[in-house]
Amino acid sequence: MVLGAVNVDMVVRAPRLPAPGETVVGPGMERFGGGKGANAAVAAARAGGRVRYIGAVGDDDIGRQALRELQDDGVDTSGVLVSTASPTGVALIVVGPGGENQIAVGAGANGDVSAELVTAELARVLPGAGGVLVSTEIPEEAVAAAVRAAHGAGVRCILNPAPVVPVVAELLGLGPVLTPNAGECLALAGRPPADGAEPKRDQVLDAAHALVAVTGAEVVVTLGADGVLVVRPGGTSEHVPPRPATVRDTTGAGDTFSGVLALALARGVGLDDAVRIANAAAALSVAGEGARGGMPTADELVAAEP
Ligand code: ADP
Repeated sequence: MVLGAVNVDMVVRAPRLPAPGETVVGPGMERFGGGKGANAAVAAARAGGRVRYIGAVGDDDIGRQALRELQDDGVDTSGVLVSTASPTGVALIVVGPGGENQIAVGAGANGDVSAELVTAELARVLPGAGGVLVSTEIPEEAVAAAVRAAHGAGVRCILNPAPVVPVVAELLGLGPVLTPNAGECLALAGRPPADGAEPKRDQVLDAAHALVAVTGAEVVVTLGADGVLVVRPGGTSEHVPPRPATVRDTTGAGDTFSGVLALALARGVGLDDAVRIANAAAALSVAGEGARGGMPTADELVAAEP
Protein backbone atom coordinates (compact mmCIF):
# COMPACT_ATOMS: atom_id res chain seq x y z
CA MET A 1 0.00 0.00 0.00
CA VAL A 2 1.35 3.41 -0.93
CA LEU A 3 -0.23 6.69 0.17
CA GLY A 4 0.82 10.17 -0.92
CA ALA A 5 0.51 12.75 -3.65
CA VAL A 6 0.20 12.38 -7.40
CA ASN A 7 1.14 15.39 -9.53
CA VAL A 8 1.81 16.18 -13.12
CA ASP A 9 5.23 17.82 -13.44
CA MET A 10 5.46 20.45 -16.21
CA VAL A 11 9.04 21.43 -16.93
CA VAL A 12 10.37 24.37 -18.90
CA ARG A 13 14.13 24.49 -19.45
CA ALA A 14 15.11 28.16 -19.55
CA PRO A 15 18.35 30.14 -20.04
CA ARG A 16 18.07 31.26 -16.41
CA LEU A 17 15.58 31.16 -13.52
CA PRO A 18 13.13 34.09 -13.64
CA ALA A 19 13.51 36.94 -11.15
CA PRO A 20 10.29 38.21 -9.51
CA GLY A 21 8.11 39.77 -12.20
CA GLU A 22 10.31 38.48 -15.03
CA THR A 23 9.32 36.19 -17.89
CA VAL A 24 11.89 33.77 -19.23
CA VAL A 25 11.35 31.78 -22.42
CA GLY A 26 12.52 28.23 -23.04
CA PRO A 27 12.19 26.12 -26.16
CA GLY A 28 9.28 23.94 -25.02
CA MET A 29 7.62 22.05 -22.21
CA GLU A 30 8.18 18.52 -20.96
CA ARG A 31 5.56 16.71 -18.95
CA PHE A 32 6.39 14.02 -16.41
CA GLY A 33 4.41 11.97 -13.93
CA GLY A 34 5.20 13.14 -10.40
CA GLY A 35 4.12 13.36 -6.76
CA LYS A 36 6.12 11.51 -4.12
CA GLY A 37 3.40 8.96 -3.40
CA ALA A 38 2.71 8.06 -7.01
CA ASN A 39 6.44 8.02 -7.82
CA ALA A 40 7.16 5.58 -4.99
CA ALA A 41 4.24 3.40 -6.09
CA VAL A 42 5.72 3.24 -9.60
CA ALA A 43 9.19 2.43 -8.23
CA ALA A 44 7.83 -0.47 -6.19
CA ALA A 45 5.65 -1.77 -9.03
CA ARG A 46 8.49 -1.59 -11.58
CA ALA A 47 10.71 -3.48 -9.15
CA GLY A 48 8.13 -6.28 -9.26
CA GLY A 49 5.76 -5.45 -6.40
CA ARG A 50 2.00 -5.80 -6.27
CA VAL A 51 1.20 -2.20 -5.37
CA ARG A 52 -2.02 -0.43 -4.50
CA TYR A 53 -1.84 3.36 -4.49
CA ILE A 54 -4.20 5.61 -2.55
CA GLY A 55 -4.45 9.30 -3.43
CA ALA A 56 -6.62 11.68 -5.42
CA VAL A 57 -6.73 13.25 -8.88
CA GLY A 58 -9.15 15.77 -10.35
CA ASP A 59 -11.88 14.88 -12.85
CA ASP A 60 -9.81 16.26 -15.74
CA ASP A 61 -7.66 15.16 -18.67
CA ILE A 62 -4.33 15.34 -16.87
CA GLY A 63 -5.78 13.37 -13.95
CA ARG A 64 -6.99 10.64 -16.30
CA GLN A 65 -3.57 10.57 -17.95
CA ALA A 66 -1.87 10.39 -14.54
CA LEU A 67 -3.98 7.37 -13.64
CA ARG A 68 -3.29 5.70 -17.00
CA GLU A 69 0.45 6.13 -16.46
CA LEU A 70 0.21 4.51 -13.03
CA GLN A 71 -1.83 1.63 -14.46
CA ASP A 72 0.65 1.18 -17.34
CA ASP A 73 3.29 0.62 -14.67
CA GLY A 74 1.08 -2.01 -13.06
CA VAL A 75 -0.08 0.06 -10.08
CA ASP A 76 -3.59 -0.73 -8.80
CA THR A 77 -5.40 2.64 -8.77
CA SER A 78 -8.84 1.37 -7.78
CA GLY A 79 -8.53 3.15 -4.42
CA VAL A 80 -7.80 6.56 -5.98
CA LEU A 81 -10.40 9.26 -5.44
CA VAL A 82 -11.45 11.19 -8.56
CA SER A 83 -12.38 14.52 -7.01
CA THR A 84 -14.97 16.76 -8.63
CA ALA A 85 -14.00 19.54 -6.22
CA SER A 86 -10.38 20.16 -7.26
CA PRO A 87 -8.09 19.86 -10.27
CA THR A 88 -5.26 17.33 -10.48
CA GLY A 89 -2.14 18.46 -8.63
CA VAL A 90 0.53 20.10 -10.77
CA ALA A 91 4.15 21.08 -10.24
CA LEU A 92 5.36 23.96 -12.44
CA ILE A 93 9.12 23.58 -12.71
CA VAL A 94 11.65 25.90 -14.31
CA VAL A 95 15.10 24.35 -14.79
CA GLY A 96 18.06 26.69 -15.28
CA PRO A 97 21.27 26.00 -17.22
CA GLY A 98 23.13 24.38 -14.31
CA GLY A 99 20.22 22.09 -13.48
CA GLU A 100 19.07 24.33 -10.61
CA ASN A 101 15.30 24.65 -10.42
CA GLN A 102 12.38 26.68 -9.18
CA ILE A 103 9.16 24.82 -8.39
CA ALA A 104 5.61 25.88 -7.55
CA VAL A 105 3.12 23.15 -6.70
CA GLY A 106 -0.65 23.47 -6.95
CA ALA A 107 -1.71 20.67 -4.60
CA GLY A 108 -5.24 20.50 -6.05
CA ALA A 109 -6.94 17.14 -5.46
CA ASN A 110 -4.10 15.91 -3.23
CA GLY A 111 -5.70 18.13 -0.60
CA ASP A 112 -8.91 16.10 -0.87
CA VAL A 113 -7.37 12.89 0.51
CA SER A 114 -9.28 12.64 3.77
CA ALA A 115 -8.78 10.59 6.91
CA GLU A 116 -12.12 8.90 6.12
CA LEU A 117 -10.96 7.83 2.64
CA VAL A 118 -7.69 6.46 4.02
CA THR A 119 -9.31 4.67 6.93
CA ALA A 120 -11.98 3.05 4.73
CA GLU A 121 -9.47 1.94 2.08
CA LEU A 122 -6.98 0.58 4.58
CA ALA A 123 -9.66 -1.25 6.57
CA ARG A 124 -10.46 -3.14 3.38
CA VAL A 125 -7.00 -4.08 2.22
CA LEU A 126 -4.61 -3.85 5.16
CA PRO A 127 -5.08 -7.40 6.41
CA GLY A 128 -3.46 -8.69 3.19
CA ALA A 129 -0.77 -6.02 2.89
CA GLY A 130 2.94 -6.67 3.44
CA GLY A 131 3.60 -3.04 4.30
CA VAL A 132 2.37 0.54 4.08
CA LEU A 133 4.44 3.41 2.70
CA VAL A 134 3.24 6.92 3.53
CA SER A 135 4.60 10.26 2.32
CA THR A 136 3.42 13.61 3.52
CA GLU A 137 2.26 15.75 0.57
CA ILE A 138 -1.37 14.94 1.50
CA PRO A 139 -3.39 16.42 4.40
CA GLU A 140 -1.89 15.72 7.81
CA GLU A 141 -5.07 14.02 9.03
CA ALA A 142 -4.75 11.51 6.17
CA VAL A 143 -1.09 10.86 7.02
CA ALA A 144 -2.03 10.28 10.65
CA ALA A 145 -4.93 7.99 9.73
CA ALA A 146 -2.64 5.83 7.59
CA VAL A 147 0.13 5.49 10.16
CA ARG A 148 -2.40 4.73 12.91
CA ALA A 149 -4.23 2.15 10.78
CA ALA A 150 -0.99 0.35 9.92
CA HIS A 151 0.03 0.33 13.57
CA GLY A 152 -3.40 -0.94 14.64
CA ALA A 153 -3.26 -3.76 12.09
CA GLY A 154 0.30 -4.73 13.03
CA VAL A 155 1.53 -3.98 9.47
CA ARG A 156 4.94 -2.33 9.11
CA CYS A 157 4.76 1.36 8.18
CA ILE A 158 7.49 3.17 6.27
CA LEU A 159 7.07 6.93 6.67
CA ASN A 160 8.88 9.20 4.22
CA PRO A 161 8.65 12.59 5.99
CA ALA A 162 8.93 14.63 2.80
CA PRO A 163 8.10 17.36 3.54
CA VAL A 164 8.37 17.42 7.35
CA VAL A 165 4.91 18.44 8.59
CA PRO A 166 3.94 18.93 12.25
CA VAL A 167 1.85 15.76 12.56
CA VAL A 168 4.89 13.55 11.92
CA ALA A 169 6.23 14.33 15.40
CA GLU A 170 3.00 12.95 16.90
CA LEU A 171 3.32 9.69 14.96
CA LEU A 172 6.91 8.80 15.86
CA GLY A 173 5.80 6.88 18.95
CA LEU A 174 3.93 4.41 16.70
CA GLY A 175 7.29 3.13 15.49
CA PRO A 176 7.37 3.84 11.75
CA VAL A 177 10.58 3.17 9.81
CA LEU A 178 11.62 6.69 8.73
CA THR A 179 13.29 7.49 5.39
CA PRO A 180 14.16 11.22 5.58
CA ASN A 181 16.88 12.91 3.56
CA ALA A 182 19.56 14.73 5.56
CA GLY A 183 17.68 18.04 5.83
CA GLU A 184 14.44 16.31 6.79
CA CYS A 185 16.26 14.22 9.40
CA LEU A 186 17.63 17.36 11.08
CA ALA A 187 14.30 19.19 10.86
CA LEU A 188 12.41 16.24 12.33
CA ALA A 189 14.82 15.99 15.25
CA GLY A 190 14.32 19.73 15.86
CA ARG A 191 17.90 20.57 14.86
CA PRO A 192 17.69 22.37 11.51
CA PRO A 193 21.07 23.62 10.24
CA ALA A 194 21.76 27.35 10.14
CA ASP A 195 20.33 29.04 7.04
CA GLY A 196 21.78 27.63 3.86
CA ALA A 197 24.43 25.54 5.67
CA GLU A 198 25.12 22.07 4.29
CA PRO A 199 24.16 19.44 6.91
CA LYS A 200 27.26 17.78 8.41
CA ARG A 201 27.36 13.99 8.54
CA ASP A 202 27.89 13.80 12.33
CA GLN A 203 24.98 16.20 12.94
CA VAL A 204 22.75 14.02 10.78
CA LEU A 205 23.94 10.90 12.61
CA ASP A 206 23.17 12.48 16.00
CA ALA A 207 19.73 13.54 14.79
CA ALA A 208 18.98 10.05 13.45
CA HIS A 209 20.00 8.51 16.80
CA ALA A 210 17.62 10.93 18.53
CA LEU A 211 14.80 9.84 16.22
CA VAL A 212 15.51 6.13 16.78
CA ALA A 213 15.26 6.76 20.51
CA VAL A 214 11.66 7.91 19.94
CA THR A 215 10.49 5.48 17.24
CA GLY A 216 12.32 2.38 18.45
CA ALA A 217 12.65 1.50 14.74
CA GLU A 218 15.27 1.92 12.05
CA VAL A 219 15.94 5.37 10.62
CA VAL A 220 17.29 5.27 7.07
CA VAL A 221 18.66 8.65 5.97
CA THR A 222 19.28 9.23 2.27
CA LEU A 223 22.36 11.36 1.64
CA GLY A 224 22.02 11.99 -2.11
CA ALA A 225 25.36 11.38 -3.86
CA ASP A 226 26.83 10.32 -0.48
CA GLY A 227 24.69 7.19 -0.19
CA VAL A 228 22.68 6.19 2.86
CA LEU A 229 22.98 6.26 6.64
CA VAL A 230 21.26 3.50 8.59
CA VAL A 231 20.69 3.83 12.35
CA ARG A 232 19.19 0.85 14.17
CA PRO A 233 17.41 0.48 17.48
CA GLY A 234 20.12 -0.46 19.94
CA GLY A 235 22.29 2.35 18.63
CA THR A 236 24.36 0.71 15.87
CA SER A 237 24.77 2.63 12.65
CA GLU A 238 26.30 2.17 9.24
CA HIS A 239 27.13 4.34 6.26
CA VAL A 240 26.26 2.62 2.96
CA PRO A 241 28.27 4.19 0.10
CA PRO A 242 26.47 5.30 -3.06
CA ARG A 243 26.38 3.05 -6.13
CA PRO A 244 28.05 4.41 -9.26
CA ALA A 245 25.54 6.47 -11.21
CA THR A 246 25.20 8.35 -14.47
CA VAL A 247 23.49 11.48 -13.25
CA ARG A 248 20.95 13.04 -15.61
CA ASP A 249 18.04 14.01 -13.35
CA THR A 250 17.95 13.37 -9.60
CA THR A 251 14.23 14.22 -9.28
CA GLY A 252 12.51 11.29 -7.60
CA ALA A 253 15.66 9.55 -6.33
CA GLY A 254 14.30 9.62 -2.79
CA ASP A 255 10.91 8.34 -3.95
CA THR A 256 12.59 5.46 -5.77
CA PHE A 257 14.60 4.68 -2.66
CA SER A 258 11.62 4.61 -0.30
CA GLY A 259 9.39 2.71 -2.76
CA VAL A 260 11.91 -0.06 -3.35
CA LEU A 261 12.91 -0.18 0.33
CA ALA A 262 9.25 -0.57 1.34
CA LEU A 263 8.76 -3.33 -1.24
CA ALA A 264 11.81 -5.28 -0.08
CA LEU A 265 10.78 -5.00 3.58
CA ALA A 266 7.21 -6.05 2.70
CA ARG A 267 8.67 -9.17 1.08
CA GLY A 268 10.50 -10.06 4.28
CA VAL A 269 14.00 -9.01 3.13
CA GLY A 270 16.17 -7.95 6.09
CA LEU A 271 16.85 -4.24 6.53
CA ASP A 272 20.51 -4.32 5.42
CA ASP A 273 19.71 -6.10 2.16
CA ALA A 274 16.62 -3.94 1.62
CA VAL A 275 18.80 -0.80 1.92
CA ARG A 276 21.37 -2.26 -0.50
CA ILE A 277 18.67 -2.97 -3.11
CA ALA A 278 17.00 0.44 -2.66
CA ASN A 279 20.39 2.19 -2.93
CA ALA A 280 21.02 0.38 -6.24
CA ALA A 281 17.54 1.23 -7.56
CA ALA A 282 17.88 4.92 -6.61
CA ALA A 283 21.32 5.12 -8.29
CA LEU A 284 19.79 3.73 -11.51
CA SER A 285 16.86 6.14 -11.27
CA VAL A 286 19.01 9.27 -11.62
CA ALA A 287 20.12 8.23 -15.12
CA GLY A 288 16.65 8.84 -16.60
CA GLU A 289 14.60 12.00 -17.14
CA GLY A 290 11.82 13.11 -14.84
CA ALA A 291 11.11 11.37 -11.56
CA ARG A 292 10.22 8.05 -13.15
CA GLY A 293 12.32 7.83 -16.34
CA GLY A 294 15.20 5.92 -14.76
CA MET A 295 13.33 3.78 -12.24
CA PRO A 296 14.52 0.21 -12.87
CA THR A 297 12.48 -2.87 -13.64
CA ALA A 298 13.06 -5.98 -11.56
CA ASP A 299 15.35 -7.39 -14.30
CA GLU A 300 17.40 -4.20 -14.53
CA LEU A 301 17.74 -4.20 -10.77
CA VAL A 302 18.94 -7.80 -10.67
CA ALA A 303 21.46 -7.05 -13.45
CA ALA A 304 22.83 -4.06 -11.51
CA GLU A 305 22.78 -5.74 -8.12
CA PRO A 306 25.19 -8.66 -7.85
P1 ADP B 1 15.76 13.12 -1.99
O1 ADP B 1 15.50 13.16 -3.46
O2 ADP B 1 14.59 12.63 -1.21
O3 ADP B 1 16.39 14.36 -1.42
P2 ADP B 1 18.40 11.94 -1.98
O4 ADP B 1 18.89 13.07 -2.81
O5 ADP B 1 18.99 11.76 -0.63
O6 ADP B 1 16.82 11.93 -1.83
O7 ADP B 1 18.64 10.61 -2.84
C1 ADP B 1 18.04 9.39 -2.51
C2 ADP B 1 18.97 8.24 -2.82
O8 ADP B 1 19.22 8.21 -4.23
C3 ADP B 1 20.35 8.32 -2.20
O9 ADP B 1 20.37 7.87 -0.87
C4 ADP B 1 21.12 7.37 -3.13
O10 ADP B 1 20.79 6.02 -2.82
C5 ADP B 1 20.52 7.73 -4.48
N1 ADP B 1 21.29 8.78 -5.17
C6 ADP B 1 20.96 10.09 -5.29
N2 ADP B 1 21.91 10.78 -5.98
C7 ADP B 1 22.85 9.87 -6.31
C8 ADP B 1 24.11 9.92 -7.03
N3 ADP B 1 24.57 11.06 -7.56
N4 ADP B 1 24.81 8.76 -7.15
C9 ADP B 1 24.37 7.60 -6.64
N5 ADP B 1 23.21 7.48 -5.96
C10 ADP B 1 22.45 8.59 -5.79
